[in-house]
Amino acid sequence: MKKAYIISTGTELLLASTMDTNSVFLSEKLAELGIRVVGKSVVGDNKEMIRKAFETGLDVADLVVSSGGLGPTLDDLTKEVACQVMGCEMILVEEEATRLREYFERRRKPMPESNLKQAMFPPEAVIVKNEMGSAPGMYLNKGGKTIVLLPGPPREMMPMFVKEIGPLLVRDVGPAADRVLMRCIKVIGPGESQVDEMLAEIIKEPRGCSLALLAKEGEVHIKVTAEGENRAGSQKILDEVCCRITDKMGDYVFTDNEEDDLVTVTAKLLLNRNETVAVAESCTGGLLSKMLTDVAGSSRYFWGSVTSYSNEAKELFLGVKKATLEKHGAVSRETAAEMARGIREKAQSTYGIGITGIAGPDGGSADKPVGLVYIALADARNCRVKEMHFAGGRDGVRMLSAKTALDFLRKSISGVK
Ligand code: ATP
Ligand code: MG
Repeated sequence: MKKAYIISTGTELLLASTMDTNSVFLSEKLAELGIRVVGKSVVGDNKEMIRKAFETGLDVADLVVSSGGLGPTLDDLTKEVACQVMGCEMILVEEEATRLREYFERRRKPMPESNLKQAMFPPEAVIVKNEMGSAPGMYLNKGGKTIVLLPGPPREMMPMFVKEIGPLLVRDVGPAADRVLMRCIKVIGPGESQVDEMLAEIIKEPRGCSLALLAKEGEVHIKVTAEGENRAGSQKILDEVCCRITDKMGDYVFTDNEEDDLVTVTAKLLLNRNETVAVAESCTGGLLSKMLTDVAGSSRYFWGSVTSYSNEAKELFLGVKKATLEKHGAVSRETAAEMARGIREKAQSTYGIGITGIAGPDGGSADKPVGLVYIALADARNCRVKEMHFAGGRDGVRMLSAKTALDFLRKSISGVK
């Protein structure tokens, strides 16, 4: 698999003023082409730093993709430096100079002479047109290495990459693109390092395939990329490796389809069985209901919810007993269970979920610390309660609570204990 190195140039990226979103976009697009990003640099508008970044990139990768610094001003240095590093002379390309002059004429503006540097290119380079701005991009293949120079503004860079650069890379750098296959296995429950440990053996002996772990809002996504002799070979490797991963990860896996998320998977399970769920939320303040209704058509399986924040609301709308609240407290196994049973009864739904906990930052105590959450799931037969201890601040605790509740439901429907 070919390797790529990404460089983002611009002093504004080193200050707090601009976030480097270009390299995130490029990482994703390169991965889609079956090109592995092995590193990236963010450097200011500084000749030495840009040179070092290009030298490193060319040293460790087959392809270097940079964005920024193609403009006409003095601090736009990328092309000049990149060409020096590649050992290429730049010449004035008449066609480009004319195009630039016309660009300014159309806007009824005089063209500063400094703009002409945007018409300087090495003769061996492909000049890549910029439909959204004045700075063309550049694509250069030399001595087994490829460099791609893109403009900085995302609205110029993104279409240029997709329309012009992608096809060139498929032609030259990613001959493997049509035989590189990818799949994403998503798990919930274990953290990233635990997944890493569980998959250690598979990660150690890659055999035509590579694994990348991505931790995301309580989930871990395992990205598997396979490259065989041909497409059928890649398919075989991918199927084998994914099979080993799902065997190891067992019920933690909720999907191996990139498009699916925890809600859509749970929703499908409910729909297939014509079942419904109703929710009683305390510390999540309606977040689980929001997640459940993010999917269009959710009324077919989601009855609705009660956000019962106060004790009064828990008693009034869910029938939680005053005695339970007084004896065990609002954040307790018993209250969660009564919330789940209460909402299920009101809704006459297949399942009832109750969530109560301490999201923080205040309100914790020694025996009931911030992050303690009880999640109850009631069905016709029984009511089970999970005690969880989450970290991650108020938002994190709420998000993990809602996701864990969803996962509890998913596993329960799939018959996992
Ligand atoms: P221009 O001709 O507009 O000067 P340029 O290729 O010289 O184009 P820069 O001057 O480096 O590009 O950047 C222009 C603007 O594009 C920056 O001010 C910033 O808003 C945005 N930009 C540059 N690099 C990035 C990046 N890596 N991620 C997100 N935005 C970026
Ligand atoms: Mg600029």
